[in-house]
Amino acid sequence: MAALRIDVLTLFPEMFAGPLQAGLLGKALREGLLTVELTQIRDFATDKHRTVDDAPYGGGPGMVMKCEPLVAAAEGLRDRNSLERVVMLSPRGRSLTQAMIREWAAAPDLVLVCGRYEGIDERVAKALGAEEVSIGDYVLSGGEMPALVIIEALSRMIPGVVGNFESVETDSFYNGILGPPQYTRPQEFRGMEVPEVLREGNHAVIERWRRKEAIRQTMRVRPDLLDRCAGDDTKLIRELKREQDAPLEGETP
Ligand code: SAM
Repeated sequence: MAALRIDVLTLFPEMFAGPLQAGLLGKALREGLLTVELTQIRDFATDKHRTVDDAPYGGGPGMVMKCEPLVAAAEGLRDRNSLERVVMLSPRGRSLTQAMIREWAAAPDLVLVCGRYEGIDERVAKALGAEEVSIGDYVLSGGEMPALVIIEALSRMIPGVVGNFESVETDSFYNGILGPPQYTRPQEFRGMEVPEVLREGNHAVIERWRRKEAIRQTMRVRPDLLDRCAGDDTKLIRELKREQDAPLEGETP
């Protein structure tokens, strides 16, 4: 399988240097398991000041990224990128999910467009057939960090990047819900013990305990994800609900 190719359009390519060298992502790039190419949008401006932004129509504060340099930068990739999936980072976009990451990782290539200032002229998305994607309900100053979030999440889906793929499969969201709690040595820390079940070595019991704890945490902080549970998970949800409803010791039912 050919390596996934990611092209990033940005005004700040220097922001990528550190993150693209570190950890599993850095190793994957060095081994050619994926390719990331950075394109400076300003190189596609045509005036002598290399202008990439202009004042907003209708007035208001700040500047807006212009259509022409951005579209020229994207179309300049045509000899090496299919441009079939162009993602524009924007707080106005669809929220990023693990399901989107899994789908994109299966494609041969992707373009990530990083905005700055007040954002990008609305017509760029239409001209490039791009989808807008947000990494969360907050506003950053640019799309570079969101692009790095996407690149790192994508890299984890590529076979060979995470040494043991089982660790990806047990991560939060991979199976729809949050992941289970984790413990390591020492057995006791400040009066808190590692749950006994994890120390007893019965793998079937451990697996069930982990799934139940994953569901418990999902019920507590992300009940919206529980719709994705089926089969044995439904039994565990019922069990947890019964436990919640059960009277506490010494309480009259
Ligand atoms: N005026 C824009 C709005 O209200 O939606 C915000 C522009 S923001 C200051 C500048 C750039 O940062 C955006 O064009 C986008 O590329 C990036 N950005 C900021 N927050 C983001 C988020 N939550 N997800 C993805 N990209 C984001």
